[in-house]
Amino acid sequence: MTTALGALAVHGGVPVRTRPFPVATNAAGRTFGREERAAVDAVLADGRLNAVGGTRVAGLEAAMARLHGVAAAVACSSGTAALHMAIGALNPDPGDEVITTPVTDFGTIIAILAQNAVPVFADVDPLTGNLDPDSVRRCLSDRTRAIVAVHLLGAPAPVAELAGFGVPVVEDCAQALLTETPEGLAGTVGAVGCFSLQQYKHITCGDGGLAVTSDPALARALRLFGDKGRPRDSATREHLSFGMNYRMTELQGAVAGVQLQRLPGVVARRRASARRLAAALRDLPGVRLPDQRGHSFWSFPLVVADGNDRWARALRAEGIPAEGRLFERPAYRTAVLESGRIYGGSRFPLSSPPARHDWSYPPGLCPVAERLLGQTLLVLFWNENYTDEDVDDIAAAVRKVHAALT
Ligand SMILES: *Cc1c(COP(=O)(O)O)cnc(C)c1O
Repeated sequence: MTTALGALAVHGGVPVRTRPFPVATNAAGRTFGREERAAVDAVLADGRLNAVGGTRVAGLEAAMARLHGVAAAVACSSGTAALHMAIGALNPDPGDEVITTPVTDFGTIIAILAQNAVPVFADVDPLTGNLDPDSVRRCLSDRTRAIVAVHLLGAPAPVAELAGFGVPVVEDCAQALLTETPEGLAGTVGAVGCFSLQQYKHITCGDGGLAVTSDPALARALRLFGDKGRPRDSATREHLSFGMNYRMTELQGAVAGVQLQRLPGVVARRRASARRLAAALRDLPGVRLPDQRGHSFWSFPLVVADGNDRWARALRAEGIPAEGRLFERPAYRTAVLESGRIYGGSRFPLSSPPARHDWSYPPGLCPVAERLLGQTLLVLFWNENYTDEDVDDIAAAVRKVHAALT
């Protein structure tokens, strides 16, 4: 189809953009400087790479707690580890239930299954993809031990409302560093906030995670869970509770400590370029722009009427980093949950006992989530190093594809 803007590149037309964009997988799309290099050098010069008794991971934890105005932060090896520590600290019995969203990284679900709890999937808001409190309410039972809410792509989830159900809320902030909810920074409203420092997130040390809380008992339980249940404030080699070795190293801690200082600038630049794109796309019929309030723009979501994958393929042909399949399918349609084979040939913990009934996850379980992932959610990759020119190219390409596809 030909328009005033020319044929779509996907149909052989001239692409809007041929130069590459900054991406999270190389230096152009990361905010690293001399300070990270110096911090790593200093750790190697010391010779202590493990964090037990070290200063870098401890410093990172103190800075994270200060930034969030919470009592404690516990560093660990990944966002998935932070979530597993949170569920471990809440200590459900096997077969207890944890309500969560099907629109998430599978790390969210692994944390639940690893503690032998049952993930119960509530549906989501059709615009943000965040948990819908009405749907969560319908999932509550006398076996519910926690709710895990994801701040999807950096958009604030309704965590205060969810906390009102009287069940501990774990905030999955892997995509939401410095996201603001009306009640405070993401991660500080629920019982525990979990963050990721993996390569693709706002800031990174390759892999890494942080859990924050203001509850001293939970802080101690998080720390024990990530360190084989071993209390470091006692001289005896004791194991007080079950746990993993999820310790972050001093090398990761050194890089993450510098990255955390850069975080406010990183998020401010992401917000400024998101504002520019939103202004440029304001009047496009049939395309819903994200609510910018509190958003930290890990990605820039657009909600289209239909055909998100077709949109994304057309945008990529125009040279724009876009994705129509944020996750291939809702978490409950992954092979592991569809088969229910988590531990050997058993269906544990999805079977009764220990669960209150046998659990399976039929297609159509969360229709809003299925439609969002399969038809309407179009994700533009976002980066703090986008220039005004980059944003203008994205806007031009979205307008071109909109004219051709709608
Ligand atoms: C990235 C991510 C995780 C997992 O973090 P890792 O550091 O990769 O283990 C969990 N939840 C969400 C929403 C994520 O985006």
